[in-house]
Amino acid sequence: MIFQNSLKFAQQLDEQDELKSYRNKFHIPVINGKKTIYFTGNSLGLQPKSTAAYINQELEDWAKWGVEGHFKAENPWFSYHEQFAAPIAKIVGALPKEVVVMNNLTVNLNLLMVSFYRPTNQRYKIVCEAKAFPSDQYALEMQVRNAGFNPEDAIIEVAPREGKRTLRHEDIITAIENAGNSLACVMIGGVNYFTGQVFDMKAITVAGHKVGANVGFDLAHGAGNIELKLHEWNVDFACWCSYKYLNSGPGGVSGVFIHERHCNNTDLPRFAGWWGHDKETRFLMEKGFQPMKSAEAWQMSNAPVLTMAAHKAAVDIFDEVGMEKLLKKQKVLSGYLEFIIDDINEKHLDKSSGKWLEIITPRNWKERGCQVSVIAHGFGKDLFNQLTKKGVISDWREPNAIRMAPVPLYNSFEDVYRFGEILKNNV
Ligand SMILES: *Cc1c(COP(=O)(O)O)cnc(C)c1O
Repeated sequence: MIFQNSLKFAQQLDEQDELKSYRNKFHIPVINGKKTIYFTGNSLGLQPKSTAAYINQELEDWAKWGVEGHFKAENPWFSYHEQFAAPIAKIVGALPKEVVVMNNLTVNLNLLMVSFYRPTNQRYKIVCEAKAFPSDQYALEMQVRNAGFNPEDAIIEVAPREGKRTLRHEDIITAIENAGNSLACVMIGGVNYFTGQVFDMKAITVAGHKVGANVGFDLAHGAGNIELKLHEWNVDFACWCSYKYLNSGPGGVSGVFIHERHCNNTDLPRFAGWWGHDKETRFLMEKGFQPMKSAEAWQMSNAPVLTMAAHKAAVDIFDEVGMEKLLKKQKVLSGYLEFIIDDINEKHLDKSSGKWLEIITPRNWKERGCQVSVIAHGFGKDLFNQLTKKGVISDWREPNAIRMAPVPLYNSFEDVYRFGEILKNNV
């Protein structure tokens, strides 16, 4: 598509947008009486207007039924989590039995590592990306130490080449091949949280399996953002949070994926609790853990229904729209943001003066999702503060990076155009 940097053009795209009615289904924060340009759906997605009613339903059922709500509530709490299996499976490309919603993300990452990082004296290494999200780094470090190994030796970080911002795909594969039979596990963020780079999860999984390692992905920035085919790609495990692209509220519940072949293996070591026990005999309360043959077997506790109600409100919207339409709009929307930034760079900035905007997110749309990250060379946090003051909600990382993620559900092309005007007036 040939883009134009004009209000009329942006409004035309909005007019043609088949998802345009969804913007109105979300609460858009207002500053000084004006709707903000909200570009942080990659950090905390906006609240669907329907969320309050979903949570209220559970509060009312709790008031009305007390403990009997476990079976008599409109959406019985005993099986509340089961409602997510089918729609979440569609979002991440899984079989319904391969996914479950439980706990929070880093908790789940640790639980999955218990099952899929089973180091031996010979095979104990982990391949991950350098500068992974800190929570993931800490989790891997302590998993390794907990197993009696030294993180310096056991954790292999793949970094961008000298002077580059993003990873070369073949460098990940080479690191896996070089680790060979010392490699126990590959655990990478499927979409890098900083650059927005999407990794080739299919090829990484093939490479990991070839050397006998398990392969898992943290999809905090992937779920609800990019096309995922976890089952088909043969990924061993994955986890994600629901409060970023999935709009399920601060600290909302996390989801996990465990491939069918592992779900069927009841001998696989794991941490356990009553909610992972065979549903038919759970309430006999007998000795001896009998895991379910699904991802549900990794559940320990009964469902946190109030946060799950917020998740359900959001997931119902995803299910209604479908990933296909979201992906289609997303490519054009993030492409438009890329175009606007390039346009400002070209017409209003001068690289030789040291002041310019460098897009560090891959230019190839197959290697990115909604997010576009920019290094604002020659600018300080002032620029970000000005943007915020004028109503742009984006994300600043020291010393000079701005992350933005226009999302297809509630952002418009006009948002992107208006952002460009504000940016232009402040550089
Ligand atoms: C957002 C994010 C987290 C956050 O973890 P919580 O347990 O939800 O606090 C962890 N890992 C990655 C890669 C993230 O992007």
